[in-house]
Amino acid sequence: MLTDNNMRALLVGRFQPFHNGHLNLVEKILEKSDSIIIVIGSAQHSYTLENPFTAGERLEMISAVLKESVHKDFYIVPVEDVDSNSIWVSHIETLVPKFDVIFTNNPLVRTLFLDKGYKVESTSLHDRSDLSGTNIRKKMLKGEHWEQLVPVQISKYIKQIGGVKRIAMIAKSDKATL
Ligand code: NAP
Repeated sequence: MLTDNNMRALLVGRFQPFHNGHLNLVEKILEKSDSIIIVIGSAQHSYTLENPFTAGERLEMISAVLKESVHKDFYIVPVEDVDSNSIWVSHIETLVPKFDVIFTNNPLVRTLFLDKGYKVESTSLHDRSDLSGTNIRKKMLKGEHWEQLVPVQISKYIKQIGGVKRIAMIAKSDKATL
């Protein structure tokens, strides 16, 4: 626990990519907390259809959005997965500042933090029909409009790094491998 007046929240996700639903969630969390730690999960993965963006790219993208959108402290920490679920929370604890509450909808993540004595709150992402990382990546692959589903800083960044071409290249090379 920090202090009663200084509540710090933790949010975990892969953010492939960070979209308007994630931003809405961060804003909601910050209505109840004084600062937020965003853990970029599966940091070791990149250049795959599920995880096209590197941890560094995800960090830059989220940071660009939050710098302009939120007026409270935030920390963004990439965390690689570990083989054993039972040590994952301790692994996170060694990498991030202290926190009071974790926000997640993932049953495994919820259980792992509850078992370590943390307060866990459920979250919901709004408009899941459109606002999901999977849907956005599919739209990129099909050449459909996806830009309106992410904050403007994210669409600019993805264009700058050739993110859509990257996803198309990965899909082609996956088919070639198959
Ligand atoms: P995720 O893999 O990022 O997301 C899984 C699904 O849940 C996605 O469809 C995601 O949508 C959705 N989702 C994410 N946040 C949500 C929310 N607040 N409300 C409703 N749906 C939500 O999984 P995650 O739970 O967000 O992140 C867990 C991270 O922890 C992963 O990187 C995982 O590898 C890591 N982890 C590691 C270990 C270990 O190393 N042993 C153990 C447990 C978890 P979007 O794609 O739209 O975000």
